[in-house]
Amino acid sequence: MKLIRFGNKGNEKPAIQLQNGKRIDVSSFITDYDENFFGTGGIQRLQAWLENNQSKCPEINEDIRLGAPVVRPSKIVCVGLNYAKHAEESGMEPPKEPVLFFKATSAIVGPHDDIVIPKGSVKTDWEVELAIVIGAKASYVSEKEALNHVAGYVLHNDVSEREFQIERSGQWVKGKSCDTFAPLGPFIATPDEVGNPNNLRLWLKLNGQTMQDSNTSDFIFNVQEVISHISQFMTLLPGDIISTGTPFGVGLGLNPPKYLIPGDEVELGIEGLGISKQKVVAYSAKV
Ligand code: ZN
Repeated sequence: MKLIRFGNKGNEKPAIQLQNGKRIDVSSFITDYDENFFGTGGIQRLQAWLENNQSKCPEINEDIRLGAPVVRPSKIVCVGLNYAKHAEESGMEPPKEPVLFFKATSAIVGPHDDIVIPKGSVKTDWEVELAIVIGAKASYVSEKEALNHVAGYVLHNDVSEREFQIERSGQWVKGKSCDTFAPLGPFIATPDEVGNPNNLRLWLKLNGQTMQDSNTSDFIFNVQEVISHISQFMTLLPGDIISTGTPFGVGLGLNPPKYLIPGDEVELGIEGLGISKQKVVAYSAKV
């Protein structure tokens, strides 16, 4: 199943994208895709309900705005340097255990919303990533049990400001959390649709030119290892997002480095998880 949310910012409604690409509104049955939905078997309940009610669900207009396919969760936990070649381009050693950092959940936007270059930024960069959506509370889970805690997977652009991240003192969170720095979607695909999450092609284009093109089979720490590892340090709640790191090909790694400027267009995709597209705009106090 593919879960989407549609409508104006802050007033999104839950919907489903069918195999034939049509999108149907399921808000008559589901309040929203939030912690309660994922934590109470919402996906199974929705699936069962659809068997008898699908034909009654209103179809959604194709050009309507898509929101992030999950309601703002308790946390976004990100894994840094999880592809060997990207660690190298960042000038860092491949880590011995997963590098973790947080991204503010207020950074979440829809898959095709604009990326706003933050006030004073000159080093805003792109990062295509496979993100995991947690489906059941996870605390001290083993690698073997880890996938039982997954609701689905979603495409994420872990937009990053390199000066804020690396040159200003302290933790990476400063360069990861600006408004609009977490375009999520177009949809959450349930695990049965995705197959092996540790073997998915992922790519990103800037103004039509391929910048990143890799496969999650190059993970240093795979999906099971990452979930198990994080759950040793914090409880993952239903709806929480884990972003698994980006492969080689970010702007920081180019010689000379290249960063986003207003007017740029970023397009990214992951096998089975669709495509998202963001236009880059300058910060304005009115946004
Ligand atoms: Zn990242």
